[in-house]
Amino acid sequence: MRYQAREVDIEGRVRLVMEGALTARDRVGVQDFVLLENYNSEAAFIENLRRRFRENLIYTYIGSVLVSMNPYKELEIYSKQQMDRYRGVSFYEISPHIYALSDNTYRAMRTERKDQCILISGESGAGKTEASKKILLYYAVTCPTNDHMAALGDRLLQSNPVLEAFGNAKTLRNDNSSRFGKYMDVQFDFRGAPVGGHILNYLLEKSRVVHQNHGERNFHIFYQLLDGGQDDQLNTLNLERNPQNYRYLVKGNCPRVSSISDKNNWKVVMKALPVIGFTEEEVQKLLNIIASVLHLGNTQFGEGEEGETYITTEISNLARLLGVDGSALREALTHKKLTAKGEEMITPLNFEQAEAARDALAKAVYGRTFTWLVEKINQSLALKDEIYHSSKGSSVIGLLDIYGFEVLQHNSFEQFCINYCNEKLQQLFIELTLRSEQEEYETEGIAWETVQYFDNKIICDLIEEKHKGIISILDEECLRPGETCDVSFLEKLEDTVGGHPHFVTHKLANGKTRRVMSREEFRLLHYAGEVNYNVNGFLDKNNDLLNRNLKEVMCQSDNQILSHCFRREEVIDQKRPEMAATQFKNSLMKLTEILRSKEPSYVRCIKPNDAKQPGRFDEVLVRHQVKYLGLMENLRVRRAGFAYRRRFEAFLQRYKPLCPETWPNWHGRLADGVLTLVKHLGYKDEEYKLGRSKIFIRFPKTLFNTEDALEA
Ligand code: ATP
Ligand code: MG
Repeated sequence: MRYQAREVDIEGRVRLVMEGALTARDRVGVQDFVLLENYNSEAAFIENLRRRFRENLIYTYIGSVLVSMNPYKELEIYSKQQMDRYRGVSFYEISPHIYALSDNTYRAMRTERKDQCILISGESGAGKTEASKKILLYYAVTCPTNDHMAALGDRLLQSNPVLEAFGNAKTLRNDNSSRFGKYMDVQFDFRGAPVGGHILNYLLEKSRVVHQNHGERNFHIFYQLLDGGQDDQLNTLNLERNPQNYRYLVKGNCPRVSSISDKNNWKVVMKALPVIGFTEEEVQKLLNIIASVLHLGNTQFGEGEEGETYITTEISNLARLLGVDGSALREALTHKKLTAKGEEMITPLNFEQAEAARDALAKAVYGRTFTWLVEKINQSLALKDEIYHSSKGSSVIGLLDIYGFEVLQHNSFEQFCINYCNEKLQQLFIELTLRSEQEEYETEGIAWETVQYFDNKIICDLIEEKHKGIISILDEECLRPGETCDVSFLEKLEDTVGGHPHFVTHKLANGKTRRVMSREEFRLLHYAGEVNYNVNGFLDKNNDLLNRNLKEVMCQSDNQILSHCFRREEVIDQKRPEMAATQFKNSLMKLTEILRSKEPSYVRCIKPNDAKQPGRFDEVLVRHQVKYLGLMENLRVRRAGFAYRRRFEAFLQRYKPLCPETWPNWHGRLADGVLTLVKHLGYKDEEYKLGRSKIFIRFPKTLFNTEDALEA
């Protein structure tokens, strides 16, 4: 018999995909992991991913979660026609796609009038930012609009290249790696047209401004300016074209990246800035700041005979670009102002301290300018008053594109924060997935079967608990008078959380750990795996201090962006601002509140290989990510009771030809019709349950047999 193979859609629609001896299931796998026969098997999960990847089917569902594989090549699946195919179509009716998820979220917002959010996660290079851009573009193209809104859509889209220029960099893992976390709200009015937006940014990796690892670069904007800026622009900024002339750009020894055209990107950014409301003057001030960071990096110090430090390089240009007084800047870069017993004292800095002060200033200038940039973009995306009043009943779709779980060769403060963030999001994910499953069972009147899962609250507590958690201990150690250092922080940790089951150090391990640990490390057993953190630099990075006299100089800047970023109150107010980790913790608390108040959808991104190449599926790498993303856990929760559920009318409509009593039409109650049908098909009691409006089928096999009967 010639067998016509097909991809079985979970909603029962059948697509002919090939003819031949193989069934489509054998070849392209299932499009929803809940249909896997052995849903507990990681091997089966990965095999399904591999089959689909081979066929360029990069999207697969786990129920309503979208798993996305980075193809590392352009696929013809993002055209306007494709967008149209997915408009208004039920989630499961056609192949899985990011557009299906976008459209479904949009419709849920419209019909249920409830705010939505889309959480995109995955490790560096897995395709999060690309996914978020595709979602935004989908809304910009398919939602209703008028002239004003078209302009807003434009601003929403144009904000991307600007943020990427300032917040993304080439790393070993991704040529365009986002070095900050981003949550973006898109507001829609009662007609479903986008009318406003708002961005929250998280923890920019400021250390990159002054240091890059081998093979990595500083933020794109520096190279863009040097490559794309016009000659007279560069002259005014006193810059040379060659990035290798700047100390802040040479560390990674990687001035050019073959996949990136800095020149073209510069043009895109320069075009985008006016669209999102930057005046010519503001652009000029911004360029001055970018240039000043480069000049700051080239500022060098010498040591006098008395051990005093002085600046050996020319400083007037730097002062001009920063808009500050040259001699005040010179003084502030080489001296420190202290207040002791109400009296001010000026003490000279030694060579190392002066270098550290210079780098701290560069990081502060860049980091604060980035925050200003986001504020500025927010002003341009804000709901205008008249629209605000006419858009009552508007709703929001939030998009979260945030760093995934990170395990590097050397893990520091940044990885600690990033992994803590993932721990929080995982906690929220489990909570919300269980909640929505439970709610569905409740509305359908089906008994909830308890699911066993790992609750990672214990790890979140270890990190964030007041007074007892790692962050509190770090803060305390930063504030404690006397000789504190990274090692004393580690000792304090051992004393305080040493007995915690998810915390290990060299001393505590007693030789029992598998991987050798150094004496400067602590290990956390995260939900996604073990990570060793080296405490070197933790105190400094958490303190994130800028000498007071440097702040004083900066707040007198005549560059309006800088005087906005460095406020006089900050100098007058002696209260210590929150430390970096606590700030981050508080912003994460706010973020989880925002997300909890919305209906979530998830995109889980996976990268197929580390070589950034198409067609290569590195099984070990993929397996790691499946683990980090908690996908097996996700599938288990989703499959705990029933693999498949479908509304009565849809089920009856599709399978009614299989039973003489339901064919051609069933005239009684829908539930009775479904019951008659499944009895006729010989479903056993344990195979299914009827809810109030849906049939729940426990095993995929039952569904496949029914599908096959239809085909025969
Ligand atoms: P990071 O955490 O480092 O910011 P990311 O998850 O945001 O990483 P992206 O920048 O979105 O990763 O993707 C990395 C690269 O992978 C892109 O620059 C692009 O080349 C490729 N890529 C990702 N998704 C797709 C896609 N759907 N189609 C084609 N190429 C893609
Ligand atoms: Mg990114």
